[in-house]
Amino acid sequence: MKHVLVLGAGQLARMMSLAGAPLNIKISAFDVRSENIVHPLTLEVLGNGLEHAIAEADVITAEFEHIPLDVLAICEKSGKFLPSTDAIKAGGDRRIEKGLLDSAGVKNAKYAVINTRTDFDAAIAHVGLPMVLKSALGGYDGKGQWRLKTLDDVDAIWTEMAECIAESESQAIVAEEFVPFQREVSLVGARNKQGELAIYPLAENVHTDGVLTLSTAIDEPELQAQAAQMFTAVAESLDYVGVLALEFFDVNGQLLVNEIAPRVHNSGHWTQQGADTCQFENHLRAVCDMPLGSTQAIRATSMVNILGEDTLPEAVHSLSGCHVHWYGKDKRAGRKMGHINVTANDKAALKAQLVALSELLDEAAFPALKPAAEAL
Ligand code: ATP
Ligand code: MG
Repeated sequence: MKHVLVLGAGQLARMMSLAGAPLNIKISAFDVRSENIVHPLTLEVLGNGLEHAIAEADVITAEFEHIPLDVLAICEKSGKFLPSTDAIKAGGDRRIEKGLLDSAGVKNAKYAVINTRTDFDAAIAHVGLPMVLKSALGGYDGKGQWRLKTLDDVDAIWTEMAECIAESESQAIVAEEFVPFQREVSLVGARNKQGELAIYPLAENVHTDGVLTLSTAIDEPELQAQAAQMFTAVAESLDYVGVLALEFFDVNGQLLVNEIAPRVHNSGHWTQQGADTCQFENHLRAVCDMPLGSTQAIRATSMVNILGEDTLPEAVHSLSGCHVHWYGKDKRAGRKMGHINVTANDKAALKAQLVALSELLDEAAFPALKPAAEAL
């Protein structure tokens, strides 16, 4: 029996726990907000606090990148933390992330860092309009972002950005060129201590109001090779151990990295039903120093996020190839409450299943599903 302590007690720790049980890997989770050690499924408070849990654990890992630096420091000091503090910081701070991508020689959008109004003017000259402005720290699901299209909006956006920068001493803004992409794709893969890689097929992602709504595994060898090369460069430059995700913009078949996530990723949930070994199991295998499992796709699969809803029509459970995964969370508008993995024998059958699913669901709750399914 191995014991893994996960920093963060959300759905990703929950799904690691579900994937770890058959391998006799026991998970406990550190809830960053309450600072309690909890059971990842029941959220029942366990044990005697973080220091004790660190001492008890064989391995410590994380389910998200916005971890207080003092917590990261004590985990790192134990010598048990994987992937690494540097990897978590690169995922949590867009300045470090951009620096890492450049030094790994991985294509990404042109950018500039803004701390002052003078920097903002310099960024406009360097990056050009339109541009996307993102807070360096704390951004997720498209939050903490602005779009600057014309110079008329500079003053109004600066007022909001200056407020954001003033919130904390270490906050800043990263300005990026607006990338005219055709679509967004992401790559999830694992690397173990021996440097072996296990990379999943790419997923094509649909975002609605900045939040992932649909993710579909795709089989496009040329794009896959490009993405895998960038994944390898990033993973090797961090000497990464665990599952890592890269989000890309696809611009006419040329990939640019948008961002990295040093963890299991929402766009990899399809692997629970669609791949030989799911991303949660492969993350645990990597950090527990086990051989990695096959990442081969075993059927056509999509993942549909359930946002802000805590019930589904019963008929969903009768639809063949539909697998519902709830996260056990209290309902809140827009909150990620669960997901549905939809599988089929081939892409055409998958598309038909997704359209059938969209017809069972409340359109107001899943507005993007039907058009996205029809466009597959
Ligand atoms: P998450 O953590 O949920 O992935 P996030 O808040 O970290 O999101 P990003 O992934 O950087 O933010 O951006 C959210 C979305 O905004 C992207 O998926 C993309 O659709 C759009 N976007 C971000 N940067 C750019 C850009 N430079 N050009 C065009 N669109 C962009
Ligand atoms: Mg993103």
